[in-house]
Amino acid sequence: MKAHTKETQATLTPEKALQFLKEGNERFQQNLKANRNLLEQVNDTRNGQFPFATILSCIDSRVSAELVFDQGLGDIFSVRIAGNFVNVDILGSMEFACKLAGTKLIVVLGHTSCGAIKGACDHARLGNLTALINKIEPAVEAVKEPTDENLRNSKNIDFVNNVAVKNVEMTIENIRKQSPVLAELENDGDIKIVGGMYDINNGKVTFL
Ligand SMILES: [Zn+2]
Repeated sequence: MKAHTKETQATLTPEKALQFLKEGNERFQQNLKANRNLLEQVNDTRNGQFPFATILSCIDSRVSAELVFDQGLGDIFSVRIAGNFVNVDILGSMEFACKLAGTKLIVVLGHTSCGAIKGACDHARLGNLTALINKIEPAVEAVKEPTDENLRNSKNIDFVNNVAVKNVEMTIENIRKQSPVLAELENDGDIKIVGGMYDINNGKVTFL
């Protein structure tokens, strides 16, 4: 498999970009890999990059976007932060990726059993992590069930995973609200913004 070029990137649509990721995750789940020579891709991309997707995912060591979607060099912009939310710097990175570098798709990828989400569910406090967790807590508040406070913590894994899905949905809303650049690209049909959940039990990405 070759690295993307200006020509192949130009022929891509948001739907096709999503299809590439779905196919890549299917390969990953079957322990298959596209036949690609990474060193050759280093050479192929030496004069420029033409990635097709931008993926915002968690720093979790089990959720490497390139691996779980079986992608090579020059295929995706990978933005990673614990709890996969956006702030002004991350939005700026995404605007670069879409508006200037031409990617067709933004994926906000949450995952099951996320430590950052668990921390938000428990309202954990530690150094700079406190400020990070504060940014995820609105998703905790937005999940209304269960109402019993004793069940609204990291010990309740269903609750944790529901908050993770809500966090993906709210992050997508925040992208649209806080980035007029990306909202316009989406309204014009130049990009799509989709959410996904990675299941750490089986390697499957379910698009929301
Ligand atoms: Zn995580």
